[in-house]
Amino acid sequence: MPDLIEESKSNRATCRTCKQKIDKAVLRFGEETPNTFSSDGGSSYFWHHLACAAGKVPAKVRAAMVNFGGPIPDREKLEAILAAPPRASGKGAPRAAYPYAERASTSRSKCLHCGSAIEKDSMRVAVEREVDTGSFAATGPGYLHPGCAAEYTGDEGLIEKIKANMPALAPEELAVLAAQL
Ligand SMILES: [Zn+2]
Ligand SMILES: [Zn+2]
Repeated sequence: MPDLIEESKSNRATCRTCKQKIDKAVLRFGEETPNTFSSDGGSSYFWHHLACAAGKVPAKVRAAMVNFGGPIPDREKLEAILAAPPRASGKGAPRAAYPYAERASTSRSKCLHCGSAIEKDSMRVAVEREVDTGSFAATGPGYLHPGCAAEYTGDEGLIEKIKANMPALAPEELAVLAAQL
């Protein structure tokens, strides 16, 4: 089973990132881990608070969010954590890898290629771009319609790269994306 996001069924799980309890009925992130105690090669999960996981394994959380499809409270906050640059320590959160694909959480993003809005809940492709903050150069995600992405990037292997960056993305979602690219 791939990584998943689900509503916590009890308050017995402990977050693997911050070691605090995960309350019942909040959304939690399950990181798939091979279950060495199961003879049929089944898997079990390491649980994390969604926000903790977002800082630690952003690419995995992103893929799980696409598969989850349900409403996510504090989604804006979560997106901010997902988009945050890596910690200065050099350890901990791996940098989010571009390109990746996700469902648009709002209809406010504009396509880098055609300039029109990307509809809420539709698939969008995120690529790295320079963001002018006024004081220092930074990079952040720029969004594209899947149909515009290949032309904008001139990259025919885009789908393969997205696949490599998002190993947990559901095959159905990938098929939707591949059809539009
Ligand atoms: Zn936590
Ligand atoms: Zn477009």
